[in-house]
Amino acid sequence: MSPERTGLVRTIPEKCRVCYTCVRECPAKAIRIRAGQAEVVPERCIGCGNCVRVCSQHAKQVYDSATLVSGLLACDPAAAVPRPPVVACVAPSFPAEFGIADYQSLSGIDYRRLVGMIRRLGFDRVVEVAYGADLVARRYRKLIAEQPEARFIATTCPAIVLYVEKYHPELVPFLAPVVSPMIAMARVIHRSYGAEASVVFIGPCIAKKAEAAAERYRDDVAAALTFMELRQLFDENGITPESVEPSEFDPPHPGKGMLFSVKRGILQAAGIEEDLVAGDVVAADGGAEFGHALREFSDGHLDVRLLEVLSCKGGCIMGAGTGTRAPLFSRRAAVSRYVRGRLAGRDPQAQPGPEGDVDLNAWFYPDDRTMPIPSQDEIRAILERMGKQHAEDELNCGACGYETCRTHAIAIFDGLAESEMCLPATITRLNEAVGELGVTNRQLASAQQALVQSEKLASMGQLAAGIAHEVNNPLGVVLLYSQLLLEECDPKAEQYEDLKKIAEQADRCKKIVSGLLNFARKNQVSLKAVRIDEFLQACAHAVVIPGRVKLTLDCRLEDPEIELDPDQMLQVFTNLMNNAVEAMPGEGTLAVRADGDTESVQVSISDSGVGIPMEIVKKVFEPFFTTKLGGKGTGLGLAICYGIVKMHRGSIVVQSNADPGTGPTGTTMTVRLPRRPPGGLA
Ligand code: ADP
Ligand code: MG
Repeated sequence: MSPERTGLVRTIPEKCRVCYTCVRECPAKAIRIRAGQAEVVPERCIGCGNCVRVCSQHAKQVYDSATLVSGLLACDPAAAVPRPPVVACVAPSFPAEFGIADYQSLSGIDYRRLVGMIRRLGFDRVVEVAYGADLVARRYRKLIAEQPEARFIATTCPAIVLYVEKYHPELVPFLAPVVSPMIAMARVIHRSYGAEASVVFIGPCIAKKAEAAAERYRDDVAAALTFMELRQLFDENGITPESVEPSEFDPPHPGKGMLFSVKRGILQAAGIEEDLVAGDVVAADGGAEFGHALREFSDGHLDVRLLEVLSCKGGCIMGAGTGTRAPLFSRRAAVSRYVRGRLAGRDPQAQPGPEGDVDLNAWFYPDDRTMPIPSQDEIRAILERMGKQHAEDELNCGACGYETCRTHAIAIFDGLAESEMCLPATITRLNEAVGELGVTNRQLASAQQALVQSEKLASMGQLAAGIAHEVNNPLGVVLLYSQLLLEECDPKAEQYEDLKKIAEQADRCKKIVSGLLNFARKNQVSLKAVRIDEFLQACAHAVVIPGRVKLTLDCRLEDPEIELDPDQMLQVFTNLMNNAVEAMPGEGTLAVRADGDTESVQVSISDSGVGIPMEIVKKVFEPFFTTKLGGKGTGLGLAICYGIVKMHRGSIVVQSNADPGTGPTGTTMTVRLPRRPPGGLA
C-alpha cells in the first residue's frame, strides 16, 4: 500500500483525546473531525508532519517504510540470483540528528561510525544526497541566470510542492522545473551503480515518503526512511556505534550541497545570493510563514525572483522525522561543523562532477483541493445553529482549532469540522443539561418519597388486617354480653352506669376494628357509573354540617359521568368533609368543587379551618395519626381514603396553610380519579 492510498499520517483513535491541536497546527486543514474523532484526510495531507510533532498523546502514526526496507535488504542465501544492490542515500541533515552529544541515544557519533552502522544493516552502498543537492543548486543558478524576467518558487521541499499543487494551483507554473536533490541523487546512483539498484532515502522528512511513491518518480526511489525509522532498524538489529567498523561514504562526494538542509541552504549551495541583488530572494519556513509568503506571491505583492519555502520551521534539520531533541541552533552548528570538516583542504570553489545524462527536469500538475467558500447567508445559518445569533457571540477563542468562528463555520460547511467543537457553546449546553438533570433529580426524589409512603401504608395494612381479624370475634362476644347484661340490669341499679360504659367503649372498639378492616380491604372495587354532581350532593347529606358552616357545591363538568365504587367513595368524601367540618370550630366555609377533562375528574374539598402545620402534613395519611384528643379521632380516616383512592388508580393531595401570618388558613384535599379506572364496570 502506498502512502498516497493510506495517507502519510493517520490517527490512532484509541490514543486521540480530540484536543484539536492538530486541527490548529495543520497548514493544509487536512484534519477532519467526524463523530468526535480526528482523522487525517489523505488527499489533503501534505506530509509536513506538524500534527505528529504537536500531538501530546502520540496519537499520530506515520506511514511505515521500515518494513519495506527490511524486505529490500533481506538476503536469501539459497536464491539463484543475488538480490539487486540496495543503496542508502543519506540526507544532508544527518549531522543534526546524529552529530550532537547528549540529546538522544545514538547521538554525538562520528559520521564514519554512522556509515558503518548503515552498512551493517545490509546496505551495499552509502552515499550522500548532498551530491544531488550540488547538481540541483547548479541548475537553479542556471535557471535564474538564463531567465532574468522569470519568478520561481523552489521545489526542493516536497511538502511545499504538494501544498502549491493542492491549495495554490494558480502558482504551479511558477514551481521551478527542477527535481529535488533526492530524485537527482537517485538518478545519479542508477547511472553509476546500475538501473536495477534499489535506492533508499534516509532523512528527516515525512513528505519524502509521498515523493518517493509518486507515479512520476516510480523508477527513482524505492522507499524513504525517516531518521526515526533508521534508529528503529538499528535497535531491532542490535547495531551500536561500538559494534561496527567506521567507514567513509561511497562516492560521488558532495561539495556545498551539504549545507542544503539549513534555511537558505539552496542559496548558499548555489552561490545564488552573491549573484542577485538583495531582495530578489526570499526564504520562508514554517506553516504560518510559508502560507503567508505563498499568498503574497500569488497576490503579486511579493516581487522576488526566487522564493525558497520550506515547510519545517528552521528548515529540514527540524524535520518531523527527526528523533533528536537538540534545539535549532545546535543542529545548525552541527551541520556547519561537519561541512567545514569535510571541505577542509578542498578547493571551496570546486564544482561537482558533470550532470552527464542525469535528467533534472521536473513537471508539476495542479491537484486542486481548495474548498468551496459558502455564501454569507450560509455562514450565518451555520453560526446560528452553533448558538451564535449575534456578532458579539463570535468569541473567536480558537479552542476549536480554527482561528475564528467564521473559519470554523466554513470548515463545517466543507465537512471538515463539527459544531460540537465549539467550547463556549458546549459549556452552555452542558450547563443547561446540568439544570435539567437537577429538575429530574428533584422529581425522582419526590417520587421516591411517595413510594416509601405507600410501602409504609401497605405493610401497616397487613398488620392492621391481622390484628383486626383476631380482635373482631372476642370483641363481638364482649359487646354481646355487655349489651345482654345491660338489658337485664335495672337502670337504677348501682352497676348500670358501669355496664353502660363497658358497652359504649366496646362499641367504640368495634368501630375501630371495622375501620381497620376497611383500611386493609384487598384491592377490590366494584365500579358503577354515577353522576359526580349528584354523588357529591349525596355525600354532603351523609355528613352532619352544623349551621355555622356554609356549604357550597360547584360542578364544572360538561360530562359529569364517572365510574367508581359508590360505597367506598362515599366513605372517602364523607371522611374528607368530616375532617373539614372538625377543622372549623367557628364559622367557616366548606367548598366542594368538581372539574376535570375527558380522562379524569378532580374533586377538591376546601375548608377555611385551622389548617395543617407544615411539619405534620406528611403524616396525615399514616394510620392512627390524629391530633384530635380525648378519643375523638381514630387517625384512620385519611389512611382509609388513601387506600380507596389508590384502588381507583387515582391520587389524593393535600394543600394547607396553618399560619395566619402568611394568609388565610385552611385546607384543600384534592382527589383525582380516572373517569374509567382499569378493570371497567364490575
Ligand atoms: P382523624 O380525623 O381521626 O384525626 P384522619 O386520618 O381523618 O384522622 O386525619 C388525620 C389528621 O389530619 C387529623 O387528626 C388532623 O390533624 C389532620 N387533618 C385532616 N384533615 C384536616 C383538615 N381538613 N384540616 C385540618 N387538619 C386536618
Ligand atoms: Mg378524620
